[in-house]
Amino acid sequence: MKVCRIFLSSQSTDWKAEPSPMPSLPAVGHTPQHQGGLRSPPWYSLYARTRLGYLFYQRQVKKARERYPLGHSVPQPCHFPGVKILPIPVLSNNYSYLVIDTGSGQAAVVDPSDPLAVQAAIEEEGVMLEAIFCTHKHWDHSGGNAALRQQHGSCKVYGSTLDAIPELTNPLEDKEKVKVGCLTFEALATPGHTVGHMVYVLDGEPFGAPPCLFSGDLLFLAGCGRLFEGSPETMLASLDVAVGLGEDTLLWPGHEYALECLTFASLLELDNPALEQKLQWATQQRQEKRSTCPSTLGEEQTYNPFLRTHRPELQAVLGLRRDGGEHPDAFRARVLKEVRRRKDLYKPT
Ligand SMILES: [Zn+2]
Repeated sequence: MKVCRIFLSSQSTDWKAEPSPMPSLPAVGHTPQHQGGLRSPPWYSLYARTRLGYLFYQRQVKKARERYPLGHSVPQPCHFPGVKILPIPVLSNNYSYLVIDTGSGQAAVVDPSDPLAVQAAIEEEGVMLEAIFCTHKHWDHSGGNAALRQQHGSCKVYGSTLDAIPELTNPLEDKEKVKVGCLTFEALATPGHTVGHMVYVLDGEPFGAPPCLFSGDLLFLAGCGRLFEGSPETMLASLDVAVGLGEDTLLWPGHEYALECLTFASLLELDNPALEQKLQWATQQRQEKRSTCPSTLGEEQTYNPFLRTHRPELQAVLGLRRDGGEHPDAFRARVLKEVRRRKDLYKPT
């Protein structure tokens, strides 16, 4: 029972400091130990394989509804001609996103953690829910799938079969496209945080908008997800896929972690004006409880240490040098591993 008590305590620093590791039931995923990689923490396997994860999720939802009756942040919708993106703040730091084709009123939701909050947004907007895009199995991203499916019979649930996503109706392969009204989403396989993690890219071109990346727990403002089920090499390849989308791409992450991630990054890079400026801005935003998303992938490359593994200044701070004959990507994976290791140990004050 000792394990359960530790488990169900939201006071755990690991828990609070990092993306909430919500598991799936029944657990199909596995938690490989990576040779030379970062080990998953011992509790992760319990979360991913037992009912405790689901119970924790239910408790987390209840507590967050009490603590943040209006959500943890002020939602700031983003409009382009023909499309509206509405971030929905859920739990204590998650975001779901309602993406609306404003012409037809058809809509998709990304990672509906709290079905009540998502349903309230659907009703307020007066839209029809056609699709749920689930980035990964953790309950803080997938916990609302069942309830929303019950309420919206024709709504499909998209995601990877590798990730045991609750209520999955339409498994997706890497680079598969899905249309919702006039909206076109592309699914990209981005393993590392979980084996079946996927991100979704809304094609902005028909609306004169940049691409919109819904990144789940792959990438945050100034941060990246924990490596629960993948090696640094795997995560690096997935981050490179995201960066390949182009600098103008808008980043809509799965969590509001900007302040914590920027503060950590500023401890690594002491002389980075872009980072300093973003930290100042984020501090101001969070004082007013405003959301910090979206940023752009171009911006992220100027201050996000997980996207700067190629930068000599970061490598020097970490005391890492490329071995003779070492492949550049193998070296970048070592840099990523070290940044991630330090972030795992970092305790925000
Ligand atoms: Zn997660």
